[in-house]
Amino acid sequence: MSRPKVRDDVALMDGYHSPQLSVAVRLNTNEAPEPPPTRFRERLAAAVADVEWHRYPDRSASGLRARIAEVEGVAGGADQVFAANGSNEVLQTLLLTYGGAGRTAVTFEPTYALHAHISRICGTRVVEGERTDDFAVDLDHVAAVVRAERPTVTFLCSPNNPTGMVETEATVRAVLDLVREVDGLLVVDEAYGQFAPWSALSLVDEDTPLVVTRTYSKTWSMAAARLGYLVGPSWLVAELDKVVLPYHLDALKQIAGTLALDELDEMRARVASLVEERGRVVAGLAELDVDQWPSGANFVLFRPRSRSGNDVWQAMVDRGVLVRNCASWPRLADCLRVTLGTGAENDAFLSALAEALES
Ligand code: PMP
Repeated sequence: MSRPKVRDDVALMDGYHSPQLSVAVRLNTNEAPEPPPTRFRERLAAAVADVEWHRYPDRSASGLRARIAEVEGVAGGADQVFAANGSNEVLQTLLLTYGGAGRTAVTFEPTYALHAHISRICGTRVVEGERTDDFAVDLDHVAAVVRAERPTVTFLCSPNNPTGMVETEATVRAVLDLVREVDGLLVVDEAYGQFAPWSALSLVDEDTPLVVTRTYSKTWSMAAARLGYLVGPSWLVAELDKVVLPYHLDALKQIAGTLALDELDEMRARVASLVEERGRVVAGLAELDVDQWPSGANFVLFRPRSRSGNDVWQAMVDRGVLVRNCASWPRLADCLRVTLGTGAENDAFLSALAEALES
């Protein structure tokens, strides 16, 4: 049988996997623990009846973008918002536009694996910078890497996945200055931004080579909808609009994304209660034989001190609790990451972990 060969660089790649197991308590993919509010579901169901299925959708998704701009307080309105099928597709469109042959993207590891993966898929050379032993960004190192490699795209992730750590405003500003030196673009991935004490959204304007990406998958309880967006200068958004496929956002998704934003109060209340749960889980972890990292997200990274990460992960699965096993990931030996769930799920997590550490 004849099989065409894939691109050489793709042949060398591993896919991105997040295995699902059928267990009672699933705390491994940083989703929201609850579905969207009933009112949203009812309004969306009613709106389905009005979709003109024989017509292409609004190509520029102008209503959705304007509403996102309003909710995020974006001074330049819809022109400074780009939306796509998940923030992963937002990142892919960015890399198709600003990456590619002869261009470089820089990450600081460990961070969200898709930053490097999507960059490579788009033919961009990736330079993996490092972090300090406690997973902080080291500005001297960033300066050295950016000046040596002159990347078109530099990634930060705040709160960072999988560490949960938040970059300070001073750090983001300092990295922006470096990126400006090389005429590059800074991408701050804020998939978990709503759980953090500050946002780089406040730094976006027409003169700054900065975009902030966000998603409906976490705060908005809409991982199934596949919708994400970025806020950035309008001249950059105009370039992305050229690159993305025509009509990439279907009519129903545009409606879903717009209606969801009417539930802002409810969603803010949910974020606040998850942040409270985070405090409780962090306090619970502090009582156990694990190290943990300070989280500004809806998950916490931790490492058992006296048992292997793999053993603890398996012992927890045996008790019906699934967390993300990062134990084999580079730089994350023995680490596990728990997504905050409902109060009851978090209790189940803490007691399964306590037992797993003893077993
Ligand atoms: N960025 C980060 C840091 C993430 O953790 C995720 C989801 N795991 C994404 C982006 C992608 O989110 P989505 O495509 O669901 O919007």
